[in-house]
Amino acid sequence: MAGRNFLFVPGPTNIPDRVMRSMMVSMEDHRSPKFPELTRQLMPGLKKVFRTERGTPFIFPSSGTGCWEAAVTNTLSPGDRVLAARFGQFSHLWIDMCTRLDLDVQVIDCEWGTGVPLQQVADTLKADTDHKIKAVLACHNETATGVTSDIAGVREALDESKHPALLFVDCVSSLGSIDFRFDDWGVDMAVSGSQKGLMLPAGLGILCASQKALEMRHTAQLKRAYFDLNDMLVQNANGYFPYTPALSLMYGLVESLKMIDEEGLDNIVARHHYLAEGVRAAVIKGWGLKVCAKEAKWYSDTVTAVMVPEGANGADVIARAFNRYNVSLGAGLSKVAGKLFRIGHLGDMNEVHLMAAIAGAEMAMLDCGIAVTPGSGVAAASEYWRNHPAPAGLQTGGMNQNHKESHGTNSLPRSAVVKG
Ligand code: PLP
Repeated sequence: MAGRNFLFVPGPTNIPDRVMRSMMVSMEDHRSPKFPELTRQLMPGLKKVFRTERGTPFIFPSSGTGCWEAAVTNTLSPGDRVLAARFGQFSHLWIDMCTRLDLDVQVIDCEWGTGVPLQQVADTLKADTDHKIKAVLACHNETATGVTSDIAGVREALDESKHPALLFVDCVSSLGSIDFRFDDWGVDMAVSGSQKGLMLPAGLGILCASQKALEMRHTAQLKRAYFDLNDMLVQNANGYFPYTPALSLMYGLVESLKMIDEEGLDNIVARHHYLAEGVRAAVIKGWGLKVCAKEAKWYSDTVTAVMVPEGANGADVIARAFNRYNVSLGAGLSKVAGKLFRIGHLGDMNEVHLMAAIAGAEMAMLDCGIAVTPGSGVAAASEYWRNHPAPAGLQTGGMNQNHKESHGTNSLPRSAVVKG
């Protein structure tokens, strides 16, 4: 098929060209005296992305799922109680893993489209006076439904009840895109991966652990081998790894951390919000459809789950978008299969790039008999983006969002244009 594939699944995300190029490296001896230089370039950058000074980052050759396992097995013992809310496929899968690892999971089942229910968490913690709950698990951004939860609120619930449970957060689809604060929110284990906000291929599990969480490894009885943080700590102290590290991905990470630093984390967070608002304008105002998130407070700035009208099948829209327009949209998972399609808008992205998702989804919906007004999504997104100041990361050279003003000062002399 001519033309490029437009990738709008909420991970893996688009890889910037310079990150792609940085990974074209010959393999090296990962036990050479030079190798630690690479490791040492990565850790400070990761700490910045987690917004931590006190936490310790870890890099595993795995995906995010591996770090779910690392977080739990290095801190807990069989039969330990953990508290977790379930409101989508990813919060469900972490709960499922904990059950399979012989933990006693106290599940708060919530409607899909909502997030961590703070009051219920607070009440449960208050009622747990003998501190049976050893950890609270929270999925910061539920990728299956496009819902972001208030992690600062979970920390408040823990503090108000003076509960000593550890706070474990899944930030797989929020790190490096939605505001995430490891130190300020008193997070003990933050679980992420390379293929979302970090703009890399899948293959690195990224974890950050608090000192309190790390201390727990001395008493935690759950079995662990590959994901034993102790082995990592011993080797990382000298810049090495307990097994063969994913070298090319690590070179990619050096570059993506550089890009994140250049744009600035605050600007990145602002850019993701601005882009997400444009997508929500397209869905709600333009197409007149609903998003899966039940209230504005749950809206995710990295993924929008678009509910298709009764009688339509989201899977048909996804298939049509892919087969006919070469646009990859995210599927509805588990309980919401067929009911929605997802637009991932995280990582290396700008307005016009994102227009391809909106236009592609709109054409695919029309082809599938969904009666949206042609052009309405693009019009609503453009209306939003043109009338709101663009975040710093989207302003190129002098040609910022105020086109008229910069056009005058940046236009080339006529002779230069003619010669070109
Ligand atoms: N948690 C969330 C919120 C996710 O979106 C995903 C994957 O999309 C995972 C966990 C699992 O991560 P991985 O597929 O990298 O193992």
